[in-house]
Amino acid sequence: MTEFITRIEDFPKNEAEFDRRFCTEDACIEYLFKLRWPHGFICKRCGHSQYWYSARRLYLCRKCRQQHSLIAGTILQNSKKPITNWFKAMWWFTTRKSGVNAVNLKDLLGLGSYETAWSWLQKLRSCTVRQGREKLTGKVEADEFYLGGQESGGKRGRAAEQKCAVALAVERKGRKIGRIRMRFIPDCSHESLQAFINTHVQEQSNVMTDGWSGYVGLERRGFHHEREVQKEAVDKASVLPGAHLVISLVKRLILGTFQGRFHKKHLQGYLDEFVFRFNRRSVTFVGKKFMRIVEQAMFSAPLTYNVIIVGSAAHQM
Ligand SMILES: [Zn+2]
Repeated sequence: MTEFITRIEDFPKNEAEFDRRFCTEDACIEYLFKLRWPHGFICKRCGHSQYWYSARRLYLCRKCRQQHSLIAGTILQNSKKPITNWFKAMWWFTTRKSGVNAVNLKDLLGLGSYETAWSWLQKLRSCTVRQGREKLTGKVEADEFYLGGQESGGKRGRAAEQKCAVALAVERKGRKIGRIRMRFIPDCSHESLQAFINTHVQEQSNVMTDGWSGYVGLERRGFHHEREVQKEAVDKASVLPGAHLVISLVKRLILGTFQGRFHKKHLQGYLDEFVFRFNRRSVTFVGKKFMRIVEQAMFSAPLTYNVIIVGSAAHQM
């Protein structure tokens, strides 16, 4: 079920303000309440607006007695840790330039194990994609690249089975880069690439690609297609400069953070986190990114450790 989210714009401007504001469970709960019910409590069952607040931090509808928990049905469900810890994790995750890794998070929060810290990060990554987010529009570069495996030959299609294929779309705003979208795809076939573009790019946009045959036919799907067939001497940077830049940043992240090694099943989570960070690179207040993640956490389904381990099935194309 998709719920309508009325966005509030209340967030800590900086770390000092964050530390002052969210040092108690009650302060965190008050913030969650505001995100969950921006216009005040509404009973899910009967629509009544009056409630009792119980000692167990449950909201009890005064009319139909339905109990509401702020964290039931969210990624925080069943967590035994204080919400202040989750808020800190969300703060570091969103405000550190390259995020936070599981080892750092474990040490920062004094979590019992690396696995717990790692599963928290996976949960937060699952909150970086907003349901029903807008498609890219205008001029959009589309490209694909490989991560992992042996970097040789650059063959596309079946020859590259060891590697992970990733589809990328980059909005161009004049010489600048706008928003991006990225998706781990099964292969670089016509079907996979066109499905990716259909999902993430608005029809009637100008899609710029190189000469790869997988992109042929975009015109028939309602896009304006500018296809630049590369000559041997021309490098990718001059044909698709935005995509070229993003690909080099993603490769640097995968090499730097994961030493080039990662499980295929978790790749989409890492890509989602990168996209979240990249698309908010020029946000003035770091706290705004934090607010978005808390907001998403309130509306994201819970993930159990087992679901995380087998990879995120919740992600859609
Ligand atoms: Zn009720």
